[in-house]
Amino acid sequence: MAKRPSPSRIKIHSIYTPTEAAVVLGVHKQTVRRWISHHSLPADKTQRPWLINGADLKEFLGHRKQKRRRKLELHQCFCLGCKEPRQPDGKLADYVHQSPTSGMLTALCPSCGCLMHKVISRASLEAIRAKIEVTIKRADPRIVSPEDSPSNVPFEQERECDVKTQSK
Ligand SMILES: [Zn+2]
Repeated sequence: MAKRPSPSRIKIHSIYTPTEAAVVLGVHKQTVRRWISHHSLPADKTQRPWLINGADLKEFLGHRKQKRRRKLELHQCFCLGCKEPRQPDGKLADYVHQSPTSGMLTALCPSCGCLMHKVISRASLEAIRAKIEVTIKRADPRIVSPEDSPSNVPFEQERECDVKTQSK
């Protein structure tokens, strides 16, 4: 998993090529090209290499960061139906181990009844159990996802209601 880019190292009055931006941010240059091609990072593509305005890059990364940082309490799940963090209905949730260090919390949204999922670290399970009642279940092979990456699930990549566990 790539490290998080650090927008604070970008100078807003500088112009960057994708390679330079990649070096400053500590990401792969292909990642920067992808931001331009697929994620609407503005760049001057009339010449090679492409040129990125430092201010644009900073703003782009700032938005990504905001998107990812949704306020979610440890015992809350993000409901895709409501587009809001929700405490599990009846303060009840199921937990299934998916790896030695993480698992999937599943609960119902109290507002819309949508099934909510959240990848949590096993270490945070006790803190969650202090807030809500969690039933620990055996792993179900059908819901173990191979690309499970509990420590860093970017918001954009989430499927269903999976969301990164916010640690305090
Ligand atoms: Zn809901």
